[in-house]
Amino acid sequence: MLKKIILLIIVLLSVDAARAVDSEKPYVLIVSLDGFRWDYLNRGITPALKSIEENGVRALILQPVFPSKTFPNHYSIVTGLYPQNHGIIHNRFIDVKTGEMYRLGDSTAVRDDKWYHGVSLWTLLQQNGIKTASYFWPGSEVHKAHPTYFKKFDKTIPREQRIEGIINWLKLPEKERPHLLLLYFCDTDTKGHHFGPDSKELNDAVKFLDNKIAYLQKRLKEIDMFNKINLIILSDHGMTKISNDRIVDLSPIIEKYGIEYSGSSPVVSLYPKNEIEKKAVMNELKDKERGFTVYSKNSVPGYYHYTEYKLLGDILLVAEKGYTIILKQKARRFRLTKKGNHGYDNHLLDMQGIFLAHGPAFKRKYITGQLRNIDIFPLVCRIMKVSQPQKIDGNINCIDFILR
Ligand code: AMP
Ligand code: ZN
Ligand code: ZN
Repeated sequence: MLKKIILLIIVLLSVDAARAVDSEKPYVLIVSLDGFRWDYLNRGITPALKSIEENGVRALILQPVFPSKTFPNHYSIVTGLYPQNHGIIHNRFIDVKTGEMYRLGDSTAVRDDKWYHGVSLWTLLQQNGIKTASYFWPGSEVHKAHPTYFKKFDKTIPREQRIEGIINWLKLPEKERPHLLLLYFCDTDTKGHHFGPDSKELNDAVKFLDNKIAYLQKRLKEIDMFNKINLIILSDHGMTKISNDRIVDLSPIIEKYGIEYSGSSPVVSLYPKNEIEKKAVMNELKDKERGFTVYSKNSVPGYYHYTEYKLLGDILLVAEKGYTIILKQKARRFRLTKKGNHGYDNHLLDMQGIFLAHGPAFKRKYITGQLRNIDIFPLVCRIMKVSQPQKIDGNINCIDFILR
């Protein structure tokens, strides 16, 4: 009898201990505001984001990876890898050998495992027994390697409904509750493209999203999570003005050679069929090299960390800031329908994003200069107390000074 009672006490104590450990398990919530340029925070129209900054960490700029496009950057944030190593080298690219295409508008391609390399945060955490959740993080719908909970992308879903999705996940019983959560909004990107980064419409989108952040803060406080959760608010890249007087029309050359290409302005990869064609196309492009740079694969600047990937073509075109490369001429005279774009050199100031953080892991009232988005993966590993994979491009030493 005594033995049984002792056994029961031991069992009860260990259940209690497990509960205590669980409740100490850190939480991380990453909110991505697509295309939110670093300086939008300086326009005096973001009181909620300001309050996060005043009680937490702010980096003046968050450096994207090259190309400064949405999918490559969101996937770098969750893998700590450059696109050449995680495989999502653009929002659209082809495998010339098979003719298959990856395109963000194609949900079958976006969910196909074969394009994605490296270990994502959700996979790593799940391997460590930690549940994860994503409300629309680009790249989170992959068939075999998705977060524990995820939603299929639908840009019409109201923003507050997305926030309620996060709150509901946080209200799950501890055993089912995710400890890493990802949330995505595209409003600043959409308005930045359509109306440009200095437009009233863009500023309205900034105010709109700031308001949603205030709502998120309020809801987190209501469920007593605001001070427990490590909240990171970031963007994938910035935005710059484009205009009709900065068009590089390469459609005649593309048509003349019938050359295969992938990507889209401002970064385009060309796939010449052989060395002779490569030389001829390179020569013609070099003659026209104004508003863009033409590289053969082995002359691309090392700081792009871009050319190791097998699906990249032999020629790379990169437009200068504000220039637009046209590859297909539909009308006789091309007119842009948009006023802003991104994707350019990831060192340009206009391409830089935001980084704000608040929570038990982070310093308070701390402002730093630049952070790199590839270092967020090791940062989250450190906060969640899991060992990171051996081979990543991110470096914890470049970011751990923002932690307490
Ligand atoms: P871009 O400006 O071309 O780099 O891409 C931004 C666009 O990606 C946004 O306008 C979204 O509509 C789209 N997008 C964002 N997340 C997803 C997703 N998970 N699946 C498909 N498209 C997405
Ligand atoms: Zn984006
Ligand atoms: Zn965009």
